Parts: sequence; structure tokens; C-alpha cells
Amino acid sequence: MTKRYLALDVGGTNITAGLVDQEGLVLARRAFATLAGRPPKDVINDMAAHLRAVATESSAGPPPRALAVGLPGWINQERGLLIQAPNVPGWVNVPMADIMSRMLGLPVCLENDGNLYALGEWLYGAGQGLNNLLVVTLGTGVGGGLILEKKLWNGSFASAVEIGHMPIDLKGAICGCGRRGCLETVASATGLRRLGVEWLAAGRPTGYLGRPEDLTPIILYALAQKGDEMALTIFQKAGQSLGLVLSGVVNLLGLEGVVIGGGVAGALEFIRPALWDVLARRVIIAAPEKIRLLKGLLGEDAPLAGAAALLRERF
Ligand SMILES: [Zn+2]
Repeated sequence: MTKRYLALDVGGTNITAGLVDQEGLVLARRAFATLAGRPPKDVINDMAAHLRAVATESSAGPPPRALAVGLPGWINQERGLLIQAPNVPGWVNVPMADIMSRMLGLPVCLENDGNLYALGEWLYGAGQGLNNLLVVTLGTGVGGGLILEKKLWNGSFASAVEIGHMPIDLKGAICGCGRRGCLETVASATGLRRLGVEWLAAGRPTGYLGRPEDLTPIILYALAQKGDEMALTIFQKAGQSLGLVLSGVVNLLGLEGVVIGGGVAGALEFIRPALWDVLARRVIIAAPEKIRLLKGLLGEDAPLAGAAALLRERF
């Protein structure tokens, strides 16, 4: 009989609760606002209510066996503890696994959200069949997960792959982490927007007539489709920066491929040429055409599918 699991993807803005089967197929999902700033207890009550609802939303089937929670921060998996989530203020040392397990009557595993996304794309999405793979998510920030020798890599300290904070420019802009010139200051939604604001402040040519603070990656994408110089230059810069970082990681670890997901990957057609140009010139471990540069296939379902991947061997 097909096994089913519950999944929770916690972001700084939205939370998605899902019911997935062991093949990573999302059977039901509900998204709701995180409303960062509320006490964790209230948000956890919401999460439990939405999870109970999705558990019964799909047509008849076995009850879910376990829950995996993807969290945007540092966690202690053994203790089921969310240590800190930089984009969700006030969430410090929250024993998430214990609380949710008691509320739902199910075993609960915590995982970094980038890792869940990576597991999903690797086992059920664009990265299927690859043994050594990096999955990068271009969203509000830049995150991701690393699969080495067919295993999720956690390192010795943090559970997260902090690729967004790889340095690209010693004199670059200040990042959300407080350091200067991180990849995220250019290749995230926040970074693209910042480059746009800079462009407008310099009075450089563009067809964008709105206010700088209203600029979004979606607007930049629409402008790029019309050949707008600002939008094309910004996506090119994001592509070059990604190319620099990704070529370093590919050379270091001998990766066969990189999957690019997250909302900003919607504009990959404009990011990809510059990214590939830099990557192809800087990869030295193999002929460039051996390195697969892939767009994620699962979108917002990736972390939910990843929850099934995390749980299916154990429960
Ligand atoms: Zn940073």
C-alpha cells in the first residue's frame, strides 16, 4: 500500500502544509501567511490546524505516517530543535519536533528548507539519476542543498548549505548576514531589486517608469522580455555571479550537475547565458558540456516532495 506523509514548508512569508505519497506526489496542499512577529506558539497552532485539514483533504487512503518540517534556519535534528531562523524573528530554541509530535500524534523530523528542496528535486525532479549535485534556490535569499555520493550533505556544524553567502565581491553591497559582497546581494530577489534601485538612482536608461521601491523580479522579467537594458543587465550580472560561485563549487566537489530552483528561476532564460558563459570558461574538472545546468521541475512542490524522500525509508 502507498505510504503517505505530512509536510510543512516554513518560509518567512508563507507556510505550506502538504500531504504527499512515498513517490513525492503532492496529494493536497494549503498555504497560509506566516505573519512573522507572532509568538511561535500561535503559528504552531495554525500549522497543526492546517496539517490536520490537509490530512483529510485527499480522497480515501491510509493516514499519514510521519511529518517532516522544512525550516528556514539552523536546527538540531537529534533534539528536534529549531535553534534560530534569521528571517523569522523570535524563533529561537523552539522544540518544534516535540510540540508538533504531541499535537498531531505522529513522529516529526526537522530539516533545513533548502535541504528538503534539494531532496525533492534530486529524487523526484530535475536531478534524478545524478550522484553529485547542488540544488540552488533563488528566492528572497539564495539557499540550497548538496547531494554528495547519493546522500544529503549536512557538514559538521550547520544543517544548511549557505551558498548565498559565498563571497563574490570584497567591495560589494552589505548582505542581510551583515557581511559584504555575498552572492545573495546580487542573485536573489532582494539582490535583483537592489541592483534595480541602484540603476534608477544613477538615472540610467530603462523603460521602467514606476517607483524604485515597487520594482520586483516579476517586473524585471517582463521588462527583459521587451529588451529593456536595465533588466537585461541585472539578470546578466546575477548570471555572472552565479557562474563564478557555481564553477568554484563544481570544481571543488566534482559535481555532475546544478539544479536551479526558487521563484527567480522563472527568469532563468535571461540569467542562464551569462551563467553558462562563466561556468563553461571556469570549470576545469571536466569538459563543460558534461556539467548539467538544469532548471528545477517541481517549483513550490519541491520541499513537499523532499519531505517524502526524507521520511520514506524510516516510517
Ligand atoms: Zn551574506
